[in-house]
Amino acid sequence: MLKFEDKRNLSIDNQVCIKPEYLIHPYISGNKYRKLKYNLLEAKRLKKKVLLTFGGAFSNHIAAVASAGKEFGFNTIGVIRGEELIHKVDTNPTLTFARDCGMILKFVTREDFRSKADKNFIATLKNEFGDFYLIPEGGTNALAIKGCEEILTESDECYDFVCCSVGTGGTISGLINSALPHQKILGFPALKGDFLQEEITKFALHENWELITNYHFGGYAKVTEELITFINEFKHSYSIPLDPIYTGKMMFGIYDLIKKGYFPKHSKILAIHTGGLQGIEGMNTKLQQQKKPLIV
Ligand SMILES: *Cc1c(COP(=O)(O)O)cnc(C)c1O
Repeated sequence: MLKFEDKRNLSIDNQVCIKPEYLIHPYISGNKYRKLKYNLLEAKRLKKKVLLTFGGAFSNHIAAVASAGKEFGFNTIGVIRGEELIHKVDTNPTLTFARDCGMILKFVTREDFRSKADKNFIATLKNEFGDFYLIPEGGTNALAIKGCEEILTESDECYDFVCCSVGTGGTISGLINSALPHQKILGFPALKGDFLQEEITKFALHENWELITNYHFGGYAKVTEELITFINEFKHSYSIPLDPIYTGKMMFGIYDLIKKGYFPKHSKILAIHTGGLQGIEGMNTKLQQQKKPLIV
């Protein structure tokens, strides 16, 4: 596994600190490393040679699995949503990176992609590729949550609020399970929808958490100029890059809540920077096509 020292939290001001999980590795980044760690150990234990997983065209998880396969000696297969993308690998930085790591990319229709957990679909994949260790889309399973329980450490005891971005709910579940009784976990979903509450309840052992659902900026991978400006100003002020899909939205939300007086006076807030920086290049490609301001 990767060797890294737990990095010190970065202080933004008297109230907010950032846990710099994005510094773990440029591609096996942040929570994706945490979620893969015990899955890779399990795959090794089972003597599996191949990892297979699912993801969208700009997925941080696809980049992480491709990179981890290369680093830890697994062949990797990425099942990608969208048949049309087969012709766009060269212009998509995430897919180019994954391919260059040696990942075999299999493009499927959106309809097939929806049946990714289906036994028959998995069986066709086994027919095509042979045996593999399956990692679900976004990487969330029980072993992933075990890894995410290692994000908070003893030295984080002083925080009253721990904030993270939410995609599938795996990361927040790990944080909830390892939080102390006086700590409240706030999740900022990066997408619209009510299904997350239920997903998290499946894995979370405590009730010390809440989802803040009004900072998705229109939905998954949607951005506004206000968000891009915030991300650019944040980097300018603190030299900390934020990604537009997850951590930028969370950080925007935290600052907005502070302005609105959500947090009690003198409370300490820890924001988990879950990484995702590889997604900036892909987002900039899209913004450029739309003639919108870019992330700098
Ligand atoms: C995948 C991802 C998330 C979401 O994590 P979940 O465990 O799926 O909720 C948050 N932040 C970043 C940067 C991610 O890449």
